[in-house]
Amino acid sequence: PEKAPARRRVLLKLSGEVFGGGSVGVDPATVRGIAEQIAAVGDRVEVCVVVGGGNFFRGAELSKAGMDRSRADYIGMLGTVMNALALQDFLEQSGQPTRVQTAIGMAQVAEPYIPLRAVRHMEKGRVVVFGAGAGMPFFSTDTVCAQRALEVGADMVLMAKSGVDGIYTADPRTDPGAQRLEQLTYTQALHQNIRVMDQTAMTMCNDNGLHMRVFGMEEPGNITRVLLGEELGTLVTP
Ligand code: UDP
Repeated sequence: PEKAPARRRVLLKLSGEVFGGGSVGVDPATVRGIAEQIAAVGDRVEVCVVVGGGNFFRGAELSKAGMDRSRADYIGMLGTVMNALALQDFLEQSGQPTRVQTAIGMAQVAEPYIPLRAVRHMEKGRVVVFGAGAGMPFFSTDTVCAQRALEVGADMVLMAKSGVDGIYTADPRTDPGAQRLEQLTYTQALHQNIRVMDQTAMTMCNDNGLHMRVFGMEEPGNITRVLLGEELGTLVTP
């Protein structure tokens, strides 16, 4: 028998603010909606997810308030694990087999990050959610997106944004003339100081030929559409 054609493999980034529905903590209705959109295509696309944690804690903010930066960053990473578990729960409820892998060992809660095992899970149709960032202070979950996407061989990074549906020529909230860009390069984004992803992450994508699509997740069904390859939002290329 002929070998089935390779499926598309993508890495979806969900920042913490997406989980909180705009406030601190996890908004179950929002996460359920996201999970259902992923589960709808889990048998057609190989999906891994990097979750942020800004809805709980950001290390930089805690350190400004007087905490040791590294410890604050570990608190930030633990926040991402809560989001990862919430997402896993709603994915499983939607019938989508899911594994969480964390960069900090917590055997009762999740598997450790084992890249080849993550690939195997995806090949078997499981969604893999990466929690605890890189397990290292002074990193961001954006950088983890670039690293994990490269290591597990994802075709591209899909950045879900709330409040904006792509990259604009100017801030669309303040400039009525701002226009959404179809495409731009990491070099342009870096020079124009576009903060759609942090600079370390963009440099890593650029240096390693990784494409990224930035899209708005407000519109119902958008996550499903980009997972299937629809060209929403803005494509960022090396
Ligand atoms: N963090 C970290 N190392 C990592 C990933 C995350 O120290 O590899 C910490 C950092 O303090 C960060 C917090 O976890 O502020 C939450 O992650 P992030 O801010 O990237 O989440 P997002 O902005 O996507 O919600």
